[in-house]
Amino acid sequence: MIATMKDAKGLGLAAPQVGKSLRLFTADVEDKVYVFINPEIKDLSKDKSSFEEGCLSVQKIWGSVIRPKKLTIKALDENGKPVKIRAKGLLARVIQHEVDHVNGALFIDKAEELFTAENAENAGNNEKRK
Ligand SMILES: [Zn+2]
Repeated sequence: MIATMKDAKGLGLAAPQVGKSLRLFTADVEDKVYVFINPEIKDLSKDKSSFEEGCLSVQKIWGSVIRPKKLTIKALDENGKPVKIRAKGLLARVIQHEVDHVNGALFIDKAEELFTAENAENAGNNEKRK
């Protein structure tokens, strides 16, 4: 999954996106690769921000999604060891996007506004997808 995520230049990839019904996802944010198994999100901040998201499972559509800025994630890592990480910024966003996948939800259900590739380019969006 890490190789698939990197090949696709994704920031994250959840098991359901590759046809596995497992509660597992990988993330690749700021040059660090994470594996989260049985993720649980805790302590979502009241502070929220809006950011444009894309998805490897939803080609050519991007959308602005409002999400809490910070959270704590509890999970097991690739070695089955419990991890607990306080995340903010891009990592917090990727985690929420991927946990949505694990729970069967997509960002397009949550987005306030959706863009196609054409108007996304005009808006100067990045090409990273999750
Ligand atoms: Zn996605």
